[in-house]
Amino acid sequence: MEAKNFIEEIINDELSRGVVNEVHTRFPPEPNGYLHIGHAKSLCLNFGTAKKYDGLCNLFFDDTNPSKEKTEFVNAIKKDIEWLGFKWHEIHYASDFFDTIYSLAEKLIKDGKAFVCDLSAEEIRNTRGTLTEPGVESPYRNRSIEENLALFNDMKNGKFGDGEKVLRAKIDMKSPNINMRDPVIYRVLHATHHRTGDKWCVYPMYDFAHPLCDSMQGVTHSICTLEFEDHRPLYNWVIENTGVSHKPRQIEFARLNLTNTVMSKRYLKKLVEEGAVEGWDDPRMPTLTGLRNRGVPAEALKKFCEEIGVAKANSEIEISYLEHFIRDYLNTNAERAMAIESPIKVTITNYDKISEDLEFDVNPNDEEPKKRQITFSKNLFIESDDFSLNPPPKYFRLKVGGYVRLKNAYIIKCDDVILNDDGSIKELLCSYLPNSRSGNDTSGVKVKGTIHWVNADNCIDAEIRKYDYLLKDAEYAGQDFSLRMNYDSVKVFNGKAEPYLLSNGEGVSYQLLRKGYYKTFIKNNKLILSEITSMKDSFKPKQ
Ligand code: ATP
Ligand code: MG
Repeated sequence: MEAKNFIEEIINDELSRGVVNEVHTRFPPEPNGYLHIGHAKSLCLNFGTAKKYDGLCNLFFDDTNPSKEKTEFVNAIKKDIEWLGFKWHEIHYASDFFDTIYSLAEKLIKDGKAFVCDLSAEEIRNTRGTLTEPGVESPYRNRSIEENLALFNDMKNGKFGDGEKVLRAKIDMKSPNINMRDPVIYRVLHATHHRTGDKWCVYPMYDFAHPLCDSMQGVTHSICTLEFEDHRPLYNWVIENTGVSHKPRQIEFARLNLTNTVMSKRYLKKLVEEGAVEGWDDPRMPTLTGLRNRGVPAEALKKFCEEIGVAKANSEIEISYLEHFIRDYLNTNAERAMAIESPIKVTITNYDKISEDLEFDVNPNDEEPKKRQITFSKNLFIESDDFSLNPPPKYFRLKVGGYVRLKNAYIIKCDDVILNDDGSIKELLCSYLPNSRSGNDTSGVKVKGTIHWVNADNCIDAEIRKYDYLLKDAEYAGQDFSLRMNYDSVKVFNGKAEPYLLSNGEGVSYQLLRKGYYKTFIKNNKLILSEITSMKDSFKPKQ
């Protein structure tokens, strides 16, 4: 099978040498928040790799920090994964394995490979050494096996307070890799766990639990992000020294970073708590629940994750690249409709019918393009941006004395403008060319501009919401997050929309002609058109 990335090269090599004969991965979130775009990348990689090799992918909840984890997050994570269309083989929780992990820690003690240490967290940090200096051995390092077993048992039975004692692996305080300098593998923590309740007051550390949980699930390739590269020797040490029979392999890849986007859960949480956004599912949030609410198609997100590939070095991807895939998907899949964000009134003075039905293209990209009916009358609204009192040269939209085509309708000419007392535009008086109907234009008049419109006699009020990024752009990159916040990321317009936009209900995505892609919401009987992405594709592929 052809390898698409370096992980597949590793797998191909292992398969050919018989080191493995199957592929079993897992997606390992900690249920301490909502998933974001970065997790989508990891999901696509774990589920995608398993699928490619006809293997399995588990959902694994890494729940070894009871103080931060909640069932609310477990459920939200499952929902997000289902939205992306991935099907896990089995669900496991680190907490399901706590008994086994505990007895493997006891095994290490019995083998003289772990000891109970009374140093405080600060003392441990201060004796760990640096990149250039070795660490200092703990004075408790040479406790007898019996004493260690008894103390570990006392830790488990609640005889000690938080942080009073820890269990450390006895490896090498002189190791060039700081993670190997007698790392803590168990800690005392009196906290109620979202699944095991108050059964435990000792919890294994990530570096100890994770390799064991991988092994017990039958994981062959434990894919994680680059910051765990330095932890791999410890991962392997745990596998070797606990003597577990199934030996997984850890492989690291580069985290996904996006311009204008913050992905750390800590910051996202801050945004929610400070009320800078409406919640985890605010359409501006890079969470999967936010993207779903925004109207981003799961297919577009997956395509993006596939196309950016898998790298070994960290980099930043342009957010416009993701938008490109969203647009691409919706261009094919979303129906067209018209809405006006900043209306000006147009009266067609020579139109003497009450109204007439015209044909409107549902989606010109459909294999068999369909039409729907749209009603035209003498009373219209157009976008205030589509008219200019002082037009620059080559202005092809509407100006006094100029012609423009109304989409799927007629050519009109602006004859006069009525102004308000303050000089703003009150109304445009126009005439239409009766023989210029789209599809049957015999007028012979050539116009360069086509604009969208709505019928003032039957349109509905709509709140049009447009979004900017939550984080400011590249020139702010590297600056503290609070300095990069864009506090002006929603713009709300009281617009007018075709009634058709209400007829398919809530949660439907449309291309609003010349504006962009929008999703419908209905609140208090009012239509809200919420921007998914603008029309303009600013993504330029790198050469
Ligand atoms: P955060 O720092 O946002 O809290 P995390 O790494 O703590 O993220 P986990 O719940 O531990 O979040 O992550 C589950 C999996 O998703 C891990 O394998 C992690 O490496 C991966 N992951 C998290 N963020 C990214 C990202 N930006 N790009 C790729 N993979 C990611
Ligand atoms: Mg984490």
